[in-house]
Amino acid sequence: MKELQPESLMMTHGYKPELSEGAVKPPIFQTSTFVFKTAEEGKAFFEIAYGLREQSEGEELGLIYSRINNPNLEILENRLCLWDKADDCAVFESGMSAISTVLLEFVKPGDLLLFSSPTYGGTDHFIHHFLKEIGVDSVGFTADMTMEEIIELVEGTGKADKLSMVYLETPANPTGDLIDIEACRKVADHFATDKRIPVAVDNTYMGPLWSHPLEHGADLVLYSATKYIGGHSDLIAGAVLGNKEMMTRVRVLRTFLGNMASPHTCWLLLRSLETLKVRMEQQMRNAEQLALFLENHPAVAKVYYPGNLEPGTREHDIYKRQYKSAGAMLSFDIVGGEAEAFQFLNGLKLIKLAVSLGSTESLVQHPDTMTHAGVSPEEKLKLGITSSLIRLSVGVENYQDLMWDIEQALKKVSVFSMN
Ligand SMILES: *Cc1c(COP(=O)(O)O)cnc(C)c1O
Repeated sequence: MKELQPESLMMTHGYKPELSEGAVKPPIFQTSTFVFKTAEEGKAFFEIAYGLREQSEGEELGLIYSRINNPNLEILENRLCLWDKADDCAVFESGMSAISTVLLEFVKPGDLLLFSSPTYGGTDHFIHHFLKEIGVDSVGFTADMTMEEIIELVEGTGKADKLSMVYLETPANPTGDLIDIEACRKVADHFATDKRIPVAVDNTYMGPLWSHPLEHGADLVLYSATKYIGGHSDLIAGAVLGNKEMMTRVRVLRTFLGNMASPHTCWLLLRSLETLKVRMEQQMRNAEQLALFLENHPAVAKVYYPGNLEPGTREHDIYKRQYKSAGAMLSFDIVGGEAEAFQFLNGLKLIKLAVSLGSTESLVQHPDTMTHAGVSPEEKLKLGITSSLIRLSVGVENYQDLMWDIEQALKKVSVFSMN
């Protein structure tokens, strides 16, 4: 049989209609528990679920209890594995629960965590507050640093022998700075002694279509499935993917934290996955048009979009190696400051003023006073988050309508309407 592409399998993979009255779509298995045929079967299922023995060849884990497994959860996890070519996947009730579970499993009190900065606000808070309070030290590096500089930074902490995880987010929010995953793999291996130091990548911005971190040396890929995977701004969910061994650890902790996604959320995500590729590709085509349009607009000082990177630069080299597309997230500096940015945001008619991203509708926000309001002024300056920066998540609308909306809102900004 021909090896089929993920988009061809999103309607069928992992679902057997004959087990559900022939229903072409999986029903919502709104149940807490599952009936065992025999006591022996129940015993065998628990032996596998609790890792008391190895699974024998061809043996599948039977359904036990919806905190451990549920058909909607399992079908979804099997389908998500296809995009990233991962052994296993675990779906969570939010992106943050996926991230915090991974960090709790792989980073222990006394350990050192190396992470790329800036990182998502919730992740940043978890690292600097919760992890710090339980005795985990952390050190952040920025996209402009070379491998040698990152190694020096880790050595400078005096705790290089305690490095237990490298956590990355690329492209970084909101400026789209790119982190070299392969270089970070080398940093992790440089400090590894007897056991591998896992590299985890938050792939929310470019995955699962345009970036596959496992191919570049990452061990774990994380998602806020609230964003492109869900894609309709109507649910909160997260996912982690990776090899069997590391995923068993993630799964076991999920079983005991009980932060898996519900059958209904999984069912919605299954529906979303059927259109994932067409949605993301349309969003990307729209973003390319808008990036070009903004680049040439007199009211725009600078556009941040991977597609606009200068060939020959280090950033462009990472972009070419790591990504299949420039994506559908872009940021730009409006000419002026907060007053001008707010006039523009308040003047939009089609594009919605809201945080979050990756959805069918275009969303716009002001990082300085919204998503990144909690970042210190010095840090913001370093990261290029100024009062003129605007972040746009491009949706599936007609791109000329989006351009019209941006144009008419820019015209309402006082400095431009005067001349
Ligand atoms: C939204 C987001 C998260 C958090 O996900 P939730 O689903 O909101 O918990 C983590 N990382 C990135 C890059 C995000 O955009």
